[in-house]
Amino acid sequence: MVRGTMKKEVLKRFKKLFEQQKANVLYNDRVIRDDFHVKDDDRMDDIDQASSDVEQSMRMRLRNREVLLIKKIDEALKRIEEGTFGLCHACENEIEFRRLEARPTATLCISCKEDEERKELHNADGRRHKSLGTAMTRFG
Ligand SMILES: [Zn+2]
Repeated sequence: MVRGTMKKEVLKRFKKLFEQQKANVLYNDRVIRDDFHVKDDDRMDDIDQASSDVEQSMRMRLRNREVLLIKKIDEALKRIEEGTFGLCHACENEIEFRRLEARPTATLCISCKEDEERKELHNADGRRHKSLGTAMTRFG
């Protein structure tokens, strides 16, 4: 296992980045909630109620994405603390730096990520063939 190969300054930079991202998400979240609260009080007729339902589901979806992002950031911060940040979960080699720069919360190196995507594609194919097989048995 390769540990602590990433420079401290680089780790610090990522840590700062994550903390900033987290602060941004939390700030947005507060703005969204305040905004929604005002609209809820002001609009009472049916049409506006419908549009506020759409708005609410949009906000919910946004909120889910934010919760997921916060979770990813927290996990990345934990990896920084543990000294495993930047290491691939699958092969334990270092994740390519340009990949981390593009996607700081990445947990797989490029080749493992590609492997995973290939496997997912393969599984999806397998499921399709299986259900096709069942359908054919049923009708044959
Ligand atoms: Zn890997």
